[in-house]
Amino acid sequence: MQGTDDGEFEVFLGKTDFKFNCSHFIAYKGFRERLHGHNYRIFVRVTGGNQICDDGYLMDFGDIKKVTRAICSQLNEYFIVPAKTNSMIVEDNGEQYCLTCEDGAKFAFPKSDCMVLPIVHSSAEELAHYLWGRIIKTIGIDSLKARDVRLLEVSVAEAPQQQASFRCRIPSTEEELIKLSETHIRIKPMPCLDS
Ligand code: ZN
Repeated sequence: MQGTDDGEFEVFLGKTDFKFNCSHFIAYKGFRERLHGHNYRIFVRVTGGNQICDDGYLMDFGDIKKVTRAICSQLNEYFIVPAKTNSMIVEDNGEQYCLTCEDGAKFAFPKSDCMVLPIVHSSAEELAHYLWGRIIKTIGIDSLKARDVRLLEVSVAEAPQQQASFRCRIPSTEEELIKLSETHIRIKPMPCLDS
């Protein structure tokens, strides 16, 4: 079994321009934050084995920078709509996304101001998980495997010294990437109605 006993290489990037700003609010059963925004920052850690490629790199910093900056730029200055929300009704009325919350609050945003992401909540945790999948998809599983990259960690800071991370092995196939990219939400057991 291969482990870390023989060492492993790792590269880490937390460039000051790995950033985007977005507005959002967290809503879950029985709770809703007020609409607000963050200047998000992203940190990327790539881990491999104990051998690097013949160019001397585990991965070229430049490749990670290019991909991360492009994704940040695509996410910048939107309202985040969590498409898999389980505590809001999201309606598409053609021009706008209309969100109705459990507490009766209603929001309508022009679609062009919205970034719809396949997440349940726009928490730093779920954003990190989403970005993990998106970075792997953009770089390509084959490119990562060819360089023996084994693990990717993505951290999302919504404020200084306040961040969440998701780390996972590099999937072997696109199907596995989709599976590992699915949001994992622990569902609270429902009270038993029969008792
Ligand atoms: Zn927030």
